[in-house]
Amino acid sequence: MTTDLAAFAKDKGIKYFMISFTDLFGGQRAKLVPAQAIADMQEDGAGFAGFATYLDMTPAHPDMLAVPDPSSVIQLPWKPEVAWVAGNCVMEDEDVAQAPRNVLRRLIDEAAAEGMHVKTGIEAEFFLLTPDGSQISDEFDTADKPCYDQQAVMRRYDVVREICDYMLELGWGPYQNDHEDANGQFEMNWEFDDALRTADKHSFFKFMTKSVAEKHGFRATFMPKPVEGLTGNGCHAHISVWDAPGDKSKVNVFATDKGEGQTGEVGLSAKGAAFLGGIMKHASALAAITNPTVNSYKRINAPRTMSGATWAPNTVTWTGNNRTHMVRVPGPGRFELRLPDGAVNPYLLQAVIIAAGLDGVRTNADPGKRHDIDMYAEGHKIKDAPRLPLNMLDALRFYDKDTSLKAAMGEEFSAAYLKMKNDEWNDFCNHFSAWEKQNALDI
Ligand SMILES: [Mg+2]
Repeated sequence: MTTDLAAFAKDKGIKYFMISFTDLFGGQRAKLVPAQAIADMQEDGAGFAGFATYLDMTPAHPDMLAVPDPSSVIQLPWKPEVAWVAGNCVMEDEDVAQAPRNVLRRLIDEAAAEGMHVKTGIEAEFFLLTPDGSQISDEFDTADKPCYDQQAVMRRYDVVREICDYMLELGWGPYQNDHEDANGQFEMNWEFDDALRTADKHSFFKFMTKSVAEKHGFRATFMPKPVEGLTGNGCHAHISVWDAPGDKSKVNVFATDKGEGQTGEVGLSAKGAAFLGGIMKHASALAAITNPTVNSYKRINAPRTMSGATWAPNTVTWTGNNRTHMVRVPGPGRFELRLPDGAVNPYLLQAVIIAAGLDGVRTNADPGKRHDIDMYAEGHKIKDAPRLPLNMLDALRFYDKDTSLKAAMGEEFSAAYLKMKNDEWNDFCNHFSAWEKQNALDI
């Protein structure tokens, strides 16, 4: 593991470091620092005006410093003289409480103190569009059911192969790539890892995918629903909890072969069931984090797409190996949360999973009944399952009412997030749309 960035620069021929942090809206911000200056920056951090990003700060706030975490450094495979490194935000010698990577680091420590080490894998779906973002990049990609389309994935082989090669180089263990369920949509999968490592890789994957797409004359987007009527960009998370972090982990504490009860039958231990119970209990509120944009609610609660299924949930239910529910337990020892979308902040995604899951374990939360039906066809038969929020304001209100989740994510973070997201909602409401005119002009 890298500990000395100056030595890393010398060894790898790095000329510039991007000291990067992610703001509350998931925007990645960076300063380019020449290698000659990195030793000092590693001590003191790179300075930023917090107000200029989405962190709920004023112009009067003192300098915010992003202190690079050397263990996260990645040499850009497509521009080897540059290295990316995630920074932890600090102000006047204290961690900035609302900064997403700090929120996650705090929750990882809390879980570790209780003997739980969360590992996750994520599936960050994306579209390849024309450079102006107005349409999908491949005019021949028009099939009604384009999922796994062999011809279409090969028409974008140069992009997919380049990204996959880089993941191989970086040692991420990529293992499959495909054309997804919407025209123009792709998914690339790599191995699961500790929550902070997955969050850093998720951030870097977005940066890398956008960069490689630009190089090939396309535009990659992770927007939840970039094309009306087509399946949206999910960011499913596969979650397990282990006895130790990193390579030291030996025991998956979620796994059971006892097979008793509804969760045991699908291979989840009592602890796994309680963790899942926490996710179920807080689902409507945590949607404010996992589905963070106005557009997110066009993906969940959506009408049937052209392919025949949205692949997104609209109700808080769980099941065994069945993709029509919010949570799927595909096999022993892990479950898949299918709620998050491509706009999710990589750090807040992991943080809210841990926050809700920890609360579940602490309160021995009951995940409720397992439903083994096709939710798309028979969802109406389940009368008592909570519905997911219908829009961003709904989600923000659920989050605001969920005092235990707010506290677990941190009061300062929650206040800042709610303030900035409510401002965004108000901005959206002030936007005058063609739909309104069409529906009210002649009233
Ligand atoms: Mg997928």
